[in-house]
Amino acid sequence: METMSSDHYDLIIIGGGPIGMSLSIALRHSGLSVLLLEARKEPEKNKDPRPLAFSHGSRLILQRLGVWEALSEVTPIKAIHISNRGGFGRTLLTASEIDVPALGYVILHHDIFRVMHEKLQDCGVDYLTEAQVTQLECNVAEGQVKFQHNGKLKQATANLLVLADGGRLIGQVEEITQHVQDYEQWAIVSRIEASESQCGMAYERFTSDGPVAMLPFGKNFSLVWTVSPSVAQEILSLDDATFLARLHSHFGDRIGKFTCTGKRSGFPLALKYATPVAGRRVVLIGNAAQTLHPVAGQGFNLGLRDAWELSGEIIETPSDIGSPVMLSKYRAKRKTDSGGGRIFTDSLVKIFSNENILLQGMRGIGLSALDCFPPAKRFVAKRMMFGSRG
Ligand SMILES: Cc1cc2nc3c(=O)[nH]c(=O)nc-3n(C[C@H](O)[C@H](O)[C@H](O)COP(=O)(O)OP(=O)(O)OC[C@H]3O[C@@H](n4cnc5c(N)ncnc54)[C@H](O)[C@@H]3O)c2cc1C
Repeated sequence: METMSSDHYDLIIIGGGPIGMSLSIALRHSGLSVLLLEARKEPEKNKDPRPLAFSHGSRLILQRLGVWEALSEVTPIKAIHISNRGGFGRTLLTASEIDVPALGYVILHHDIFRVMHEKLQDCGVDYLTEAQVTQLECNVAEGQVKFQHNGKLKQATANLLVLADGGRLIGQVEEITQHVQDYEQWAIVSRIEASESQCGMAYERFTSDGPVAMLPFGKNFSLVWTVSPSVAQEILSLDDATFLARLHSHFGDRIGKFTCTGKRSGFPLALKYATPVAGRRVVLIGNAAQTLHPVAGQGFNLGLRDAWELSGEIIETPSDIGSPVMLSKYRAKRKTDSGGGRIFTDSLVKIFSNENILLQGMRGIGLSALDCFPPAKRFVAKRMMFGSRG
């Protein structure tokens, strides 16, 4: 029987989404051997319409990766207006209050995918697209993957496997459990033109059906509208004029009339997180480690910090890649940030997607109190920008 040949690497990264690609780019000067396996084809053929709002802290990381300068359309968020539909209370967070050029930035998911894909061509990484990992196995000495590429089953081994696949293969790692809680909500995303141009303000409006965010993008807006699964199907099938009228009655008059919309897409929402985030010769980062509700725009930011901290740990102790000591140091470093981001986001969803009258009143009081107490506002803004190190 013919045996499959196997290459050995320092690191194999499974999943070339934005977080797997970020880790690969962060290791470009390390001299380590890295294999990155991505199931999808090249980015232009896979336009992902999701807007990504990321923080000032993530911008600093993207600059160090040499990715920031190449993004084609980046819209700064100068202020965030948070309000509570059907109740009193609102707050305004501004960049000038915390002395940063912008609270965050909005880009499109497929733009970052395209830029990172190009950057990876000369990073010294073995980067394969249309490479679907089918099997993982880990022991104390190494991790092994089997994958389909160019119609062939191949295999490779490494000192450390990094799961950056959004969590699809966690079931194959014995020591790690994935916890899943369906929010029974969908996010509808679309590009929206309004009679008033955007002026750098992002709107987050909490309603009992779920939050609706209108992010500044280009001259217009990018919508993330959370609704129940049955309403999502109905909204996705509406004609444009009826959709815009319905959105207007839900969102209100803050940015005038809605005049035009792009293609609509829907994403089912669930909280998923893994415990522990590392096992024998394997570690999880990005959505594989924690998939959050998009309400606070924290998922990509947390994942980027996972990739950045892991690259730091690897570069610091290259002879120790994948050892229990290295992995436990990484886990300890990420615990507070990732747990805090999850609890913060999950609490926002639960407190603000609730019809309880008492809670509605408390939401209003909370938002008004936040608005009157600048140190608390600065704390929330910094938490959103830099995570637990804010
Ligand atoms: C509607 C919506 C809006 C959002 N808005 C924001 C926001 O404003 N701000 C923010 O910070 N976050 C936001 N997020 C979250 C953000 O999109 C994610 O956190 C981010 O995409 C995670 O990237 P990732 O690389 O970890 O995972 P993914 O993007 O899921 O990438 C995983 C990659 O792994 C590949 N893969 C999977 N299985 C295999 C396999 N077996 N073999 C090889 N490759 C495989 C996939 O093809 C994919 O490319 C939003 C999410 C949604 C749904």
